[in-house]
Amino acid sequence: MIKPIKIFLVVLSIIGIIFAAPKISEKIFAQSIEDIAAGSKILVLNYHQVNNNFNPLAVPINFFDAQMNFLASNGYVPITPEELYQGLNGDLELPAKPVLITFDDGYIDNYTNAYPILKKYGMMATIFVVPAFIGQNERYMTWDNLKEMEQNGITIQSHTLNHRALEELPDDEIRSELLNSRLVLEEQLGHPVEFLAYPTGTYNLHIAGIARDVGYKAAFTVKYGNVDIGSNMFALERVPIFQTANTMKNFYERIEFRQSFEEFGWTKK
Ligand SMILES: [Zn+2]
Repeated sequence: MIKPIKIFLVVLSIIGIIFAAPKISEKIFAQSIEDIAAGSKILVLNYHQVNNNFNPLAVPINFFDAQMNFLASNGYVPITPEELYQGLNGDLELPAKPVLITFDDGYIDNYTNAYPILKKYGMMATIFVVPAFIGQNERYMTWDNLKEMEQNGITIQSHTLNHRALEELPDDEIRSELLNSRLVLEEQLGHPVEFLAYPTGTYNLHIAGIARDVGYKAAFTVKYGNVDIGSNMFALERVPIFQTANTMKNFYERIEFRQSFEEFGWTKK
């Protein structure tokens, strides 16, 4: 005869399994620092424009929509630069398929075309802007555009003050480009600005050192690759997405790091 206490224990353990199960699966589907150390990768995409002009920097609107749809329906979860930073430091468990979607320069179509599509798929993004360009003409977003997007999950960070080629500048000007863009953005937007995308993607150890000295936590390049535990915090890799003769096929190939793209010399050396 089965004693009531045994039935009680069996029922209790079944309940325990039911409640424990989601936690176990969450663990499996998240990336801990050990996972990243074991070779897990973090996808960082780099866009510039989203419009229907025939221009290599411009991803057509319907393709951008299809790309965000692909990410959302394939389990990619958007993260911020701060989350990426904390994940690489082991202070935060990242989703299993994290994606950091970035835009450079602050073009107006980021607001008019990309932003509604990002919202539609719940795919938030980070925009690296140039204070000297903001609101200057119809090509660029205004401060009001930036503030509105920040209230809805978009992160604004620095792409230097004037978008000058840093490697050609003397130290005091490099310092000014990096520091003053931070200060202007912090003043206008009211939050810390601690992440940088190098203009034209170029950087060297000297520039990276100045970026660290003036208060950035990390900086992004256009070096093609995924971010992982071996990445330099001041030379983070991104996957550039732009218009090609076969934009969607190339998008899938790029985010999957197919061999064909190594031939372009965009991979990590
Ligand atoms: Zn740029």
